[in-house]
Amino acid sequence: MIVRDIRPRGFCKGVHFAIEKVKDILKSNEYPKPIYVLGYIVHNKHVVDELTELGAITLDDRSKSRMAFIDEIDSGTIVISAHGTPIDVIEKIKEKNLSLVDATCQDVYVTHDLIKAYLNKGYHVIYIGKKDHPETNASLSLGENVYLVEHASDIKDLDIKEPVFVTNQTTFSIKDIFNIHLALKDKYQDIIITEEICNATRIRQNAIIKSNEDVDLCYIVGDTRSNNSKNLAKLSKEITHTKTFLIQSVDDINPIDLKDVKIVSVSSGASTPEYLTKEVIAFFKSYSNNN
Ligand code: SF4
Repeated sequence: MIVRDIRPRGFCKGVHFAIEKVKDILKSNEYPKPIYVLGYIVHNKHVVDELTELGAITLDDRSKSRMAFIDEIDSGTIVISAHGTPIDVIEKIKEKNLSLVDATCQDVYVTHDLIKAYLNKGYHVIYIGKKDHPETNASLSLGENVYLVEHASDIKDLDIKEPVFVTNQTTFSIKDIFNIHLALKDKYQDIIITEEICNATRIRQNAIIKSNEDVDLCYIVGDTRSNNSKNLAKLSKEITHTKTFLIQSVDDINPIDLKDVKIVSVSSGASTPEYLTKEVIAFFKSYSNNN
């Protein structure tokens, strides 16, 4: 069995920055303790568990809003995750005089700046993103004239005035966004579209498309909450028509799936630690030698 190690993969600059930021402030005496992280710092449970062991407290409960968490905290430091957080939550943190550390990726802020600029010019803004994702929630919080589109099928129900400005979640699929842009151009005449898929996402998605042509089976190592990991798996299935599994670690591999497989490929999401992917590749190499 040939094992194809798809590159680039794994941590992007924004994820690396956010994780190191939390580690730095945990070690520093400058920041009031405890150190709270608002939501998963990046969407990977192994990363969150590691930071918990180092002393961080991750505030994450899908039945509870970020604002509700902040309401209950009266001291310590709040870290904003790489995805950003709604502006009213940031205002509340400041209002309560809590120490604030912002680990939002700069690429996310590029879309925020665009949204704010076009809202100021009187445009209605369409944000293409995944519903209820923290990055989407942060972007939608920037003004009441920001509207979410998740699928091309959402567009027919949109009732907004032109001019229209369109931007998107940084980890969206390059395939899906293309189709949504086409549908939007069909509906609106006075429209400006910027495509803000971040470079890290784009090159990881393109690498899958390029590398999977002759592959029998593909494994994406990533958390089921990670939008960029899910989109890598989705593109592998939809564009290269490769049987694909999204796995959290080597423990999720079922050897039954490897029967008759001649080429297996491996990639990972931008929030997946390298050691998890290396363990998966090592498993396939040893499986290959022993079968
Ligand atoms: S995937 Fe893109 S937007 Fe998200 S943290 Fe990485 S570089 Fe930033």
